[in-house]
Amino acid sequence: MDHMTHIFHRNPRQSLPVAVGGEGIELIDQSGKRYIDACGGAAVSCLGHGHPRVVNAIKAQVDTLAYAHTSFFTTAAAEELASMLAASAPGSLNHVYFVSGGSEAVEAGLKLARQYYVEIGQAQRRFFIARRQSYHGNTLAALSIGGNAWRREAFLPLLIPAHHVAPCYAYRDQLAGESDAQYVQRLADELEQKILEIGSDKVATFVAETVVGATAGAVPPLADYFRKIRAVCDKYGVLLMLDEVMSGMGRTGYLFACEEDRVEPDIVIIAKGLGAGYQPIGAMICSDKIFNAVVEGSGFFQHGHTYIGHATACAAALAVQTVIQEENLLANVRQRGEQLQQRLREVFAEHPHVGDIRGRGLFVGVELVADRASKQPLAPAQRTHAKVKAEAMARGLLVYPMGGTIDGRQGDHVLLAPPFICNAIDIDEIVHRLAPAIDAATGYATAPGS
Ligand code: PMP
Repeated sequence: MDHMTHIFHRNPRQSLPVAVGGEGIELIDQSGKRYIDACGGAAVSCLGHGHPRVVNAIKAQVDTLAYAHTSFFTTAAAEELASMLAASAPGSLNHVYFVSGGSEAVEAGLKLARQYYVEIGQAQRRFFIARRQSYHGNTLAALSIGGNAWRREAFLPLLIPAHHVAPCYAYRDQLAGESDAQYVQRLADELEQKILEIGSDKVATFVAETVVGATAGAVPPLADYFRKIRAVCDKYGVLLMLDEVMSGMGRTGYLFACEEDRVEPDIVIIAKGLGAGYQPIGAMICSDKIFNAVVEGSGFFQHGHTYIGHATACAAALAVQTVIQEENLLANVRQRGEQLQQRLREVFAEHPHVGDIRGRGLFVGVELVADRASKQPLAPAQRTHAKVKAEAMARGLLVYPMGGTIDGRQGDHVLLAPPFICNAIDIDEIVHRLAPAIDAATGYATAPGS
């Protein structure tokens, strides 16, 4: 097993356990050890592992037709999935473009936004604005808009022009005495200033994760943040693109996270939960306005990949989304999500190194700090987030850690994204295993019985 490169891990020589099976919310390694998958990899496995309906749908599709190139054919699986998504997506988001993952979908969204302006005679609009402490993928354009300095550094000369404003991160950035409304207004004003600074006729799109995932651990926006942002975008004719690669497809308890924010973007990007890991698939969904401009203009989107609308991937995603609908899993996500946050708050009520617990639905982040009162971050050299991951794995629990310095800001976060099929006992067990893992990693003992 020495030939698969693991150089994207911090320690390429570290040997990883071999995953040999998965059943429900658990993954099993070669020694037979079981792990509760409380993060679904990176918020991917929303139906857990080995779901029979999804497995059977994949088998049936492969038996019939695994793949047909979209320049010759469409398939029933792709059409049905697209109709289902268009029917559930907010407002006029009716046009679905299937790709193989999140970064590809982000690239497609950025290119379509650019092409839209070319089509409507505003080719000078070429700048993107995104937010600091964000992650939109690792391909060059997605990396360009991402606000994750260390990931970008080596590639800076290759990146496309992008500007960054502050994220909506109340725990860290809301000032003492500042109301939610004032804070949100300050952020909207910052975006407006940035648009004016670049030139209001030169900005193409503002891009944001609806709920921040990988760089800060499930940070939800304050109420009204995106409505204010939408108003600023509308004032200057700037498109709004929401990246719901992590937060979409039910993870927050809504199929599209932005439903809760009562905002309709021009483009929404989805991936991970769409296929729930059973097949690689992502999608870019755009509004009638954009679609019509392209159709009435040059006639087609000047973009494409070999695996667009892959039949087997679409069949898997269709089965995943059907299970979510038919089993009413979004209600379970909301209920279990509340339980998860409540249990974490109880268990870590006095913990000096647990600074913040936040999230939406089954998308929950725990921010670790050196000192709770001052919110002082832990020293990056301690790599506490990595220790939490290891301590959790030792206890048969998978959580998604992140840490270090992101955009000049230090922080250690633990992301929880358990499968939508979790029951109340599973949630208690996740917290029961996480508490001692955080204690061991931070060198503090939570009260017994946690
Ligand atoms: N956008 C967001 C918000 C993500 O969390 C990710 C992946 N973590 C991506 C884009 C990129 O997706 P992928 O890794 O499938 O290319």
